Amino acid sequence: MHTSERIEFYQLKQCPLYELLGSNEAQGAQFSTCDPGHASQGSILVEFSQNIGVGTFKTAHTGHLTSTHLAQSGLGMTPNELVAVKRMYRRRTAAEGSAVLRFPPADEYAKTVQEANLLYWASSLMEFTYSAIRHRVSQTGQETLPVTIPYLRFVHAGVAVSHDQVMGTNISNASSIRRTYLVEEFIEEASDGFVKFVHNGDANPLLDHDDPLYDIAEFLCFTQHLQYFKTDGSVFVSDLQDPQIMTSPKVANGKDLFGDGNVASVFEKFPEQHHCNEYCTWFGLPELT
Ligand SMILES: [Zn+2]
Repeated sequence: MHTSERIEFYQLKQCPLYELLGSNEAQGAQFSTCDPGHASQGSILVEFSQNIGVGTFKTAHTGHLTSTHLAQSGLGMTPNELVAVKRMYRRRTAAEGSAVLRFPPADEYAKTVQEANLLYWASSLMEFTYSAIRHRVSQTGQETLPVTIPYLRFVHAGVAVSHDQVMGTNISNASSIRRTYLVEEFIEEASDGFVKFVHNGDANPLLDHDDPLYDIAEFLCFTQHLQYFKTDGSVFVSDLQDPQIMTSPKVANGKDLFGDGNVASVFEKFPEQHHCNEYCTWFGLPELT
């Protein structure tokens, strides 16, 4: 038996990268649900019995999202939209057994917003990357490129917050928060499962050379180099499947934008770990040494 919950829905809009990087305050550089004025009211029905995956930090379920005022873009453009609903969890310790434990509402909210912030930055970086590629293509004036550019994007997503009816109706009253979900566009899983292209912590493709997806993996490695180069070694997306954003201490005055997911050593090792490929050469990226 599933019941639908009334929610506030905060859509992840795309913010230009220069605005994210230009902010000296960590707060300005983060996806925010602090302004209920930017929320749309709606409802969500989560099918908790339909477990579509369990990740390291999140469980995923199918659900249906309805926004009271239909959105112009992204999620919520149609009523009762099929979505993937993700919810943060922690595993019980060995002593507690192996089941999934939920966080107290305030922690769940904070952790979910942090996850949304990763996607927020990742989408912004991806848009920045394609804009640099478009510019390069127009510069070359070539009719046919020596490389194939795959068009990839991150899923449309948003944060849904439900409240206890009695306590209040918006997040300015933090104590009323009941549940927080990361809501993503539903993507049919490929028959062979999701392919992990570039591993978090290793700057080179994981796939074999003769894998048909090898080109895409190489392209993603190139986008890391491009992002690293174009931002003067400030930031790049690592782990495209479950994005991690690597930032140097010069971003947002060294404030920790992404919680504990930011592995400093990955950032430092990137120049020596990355091996340039045909995309890097085509774009004219200088070698990292
Ligand atoms: Zn390169």
